[in-house]
Amino acid sequence: MKIACLAGDGIGPEIMAEALKVLDVLAIEGLELGHADVGGTAYHKHGHPLPPETLALCQASDAVLFGAVGDPTCDALERHLRPEQAILGLRQALTLFANLRPATMFAGLEDLSALRPEVARQIDLLIVRELNGDVYFGEKAIRTLPDGRRQGYDFMSYAEDEVRRIAHVAFRAAQGRKKTLCSVDKANVLETSQLWRDVVIEVSAEYPDVALSHMYVDNAAMQLVRNPGQFDVVVTGNLFGDILSDQASMCVGSIGLLASASLGEKQTQYGTLGLYEPIHGSAPDIAGQGKANPMAMILSLAMLLRHSLGLEAQAARVEAAVAQALADGIKGADLGGSHGTAAIGDAVASRL
Ligand code: ATP
Ligand code: MG
Repeated sequence: MKIACLAGDGIGPEIMAEALKVLDVLAIEGLELGHADVGGTAYHKHGHPLPPETLALCQASDAVLFGAVGDPTCDALERHLRPEQAILGLRQALTLFANLRPATMFAGLEDLSALRPEVARQIDLLIVRELNGDVYFGEKAIRTLPDGRRQGYDFMSYAEDEVRRIAHVAFRAAQGRKKTLCSVDKANVLETSQLWRDVVIEVSAEYPDVALSHMYVDNAAMQLVRNPGQFDVVVTGNLFGDILSDQASMCVGSIGLLASASLGEKQTQYGTLGLYEPIHGSAPDIAGQGKANPMAMILSLAMLLRHSLGLEAQAARVEAAVAQALADGIKGADLGGSHGTAAIGDAVASRL
C-alpha cells in the first residue's frame, strides 16, 4: 500500500511532519510513502502548482495525504497557476466526488462551540457532501432580457448515477458508524431533490441494516443547532452540503481540529481512493513558528487509514489518542492552550 504525501505551503510541512510521526508509531507493514511538491511551493520550484510528477505519484498511490496550499506571494499570478488550483486539478484527475467532514465534540472543548455546552456535547456526526454536480456546474450566466433588465441564472441538475454513487458512499459510511442516515434535500419545491430522494430510497434497499430518514434542508439547518445529537451520517448535494458542513464546523469549535476526506470512484485493493486534508488553509500568518495545531492533519490521517487502507482499528486508535491528548489538556494556541506543533504531535504519538 502506498500513500502520496503532499505537504504544500505555509504550515503544511509542519503539520505533515507530525502526522508522519504518528504514522511511524503505527508501524504499518508494507506501507510505502511518496513525497511530492504541491501549491505555491511547487510553483516556485517547477513553475506549476500541480506538476506532472506530483499528479503521477498520486495516481500511483492508494491515498493522498494533503497538507495545505495557499501562498500570498502567488496572489498576482494568472488563475491556473495559483496554488489553490492544485486541489481542483487533483479532484478532477482522481474523480473525487464525495466530501466527508466529521464533526465530533471532544470532551473538555464544549466552551469553544457556538452552541450551549450541553447541546454541543451531543455532536458526533459525519456530513457526506456531493462535490461534482448541482447548481455549481450547470449552465450559468447573467443575460440581458429584451426589456433591458439583467437576469442571472444557474441551472441545477443531478443525474441519477451521480446521486446513486454518493448514496452508496453515505450508506457504507453509516454501516461503519451508528447505522443511521439522514438524506437532506428540498424535495417539496425542487425536482432535482425529488429525483435525489427517489434514488436514495432505491439505493437503501441494498443496505437493510441502515435506518434511512429524510429532512428538508431548512429544517436540517435548524435541527443542527437545536438537537445535533439526532444526526449520525448526513448525505446531501453540493450546495446544501457546502452550507451545512460549515455550520457543523462552528458547532464543534476550532479550525485546528477539523479533518476531511474526498473520496473517488476508484476502489483500490484496500478501500476507496481518496484525498485527506484538514479543512483549514495554509495559515501563512503563523507559518514557520511551530504554533500550528497538527490535530486536524492527524485526524485526516485517521480517515485515510479507515477509508483508503481499510485499517479501521488503527484509525480508531489514532482518534482515541487525539481525544485523550485533548482530555489531558494538550491544547494548541487555537484552543487557548500553549502547546506547540511538535509537542502536540509527540503527545498524540505517545498516547498511541
Ligand atoms: P485558505 O484560503 O487557504 O482557506 P484562510 O486564510 O482562509 O486560508 P486559514 O489558512 O485556515 O484560512 O487560516 C485562518 C486562521 O486560522 C488564521 O489566523 C490561521 O492562523 C488560523 N489557523 C488555521 N489553521 C490553524 C491550525 N492548524 N492551528 C492554529 N491556527 C490555525
Ligand atoms: Mg479559507
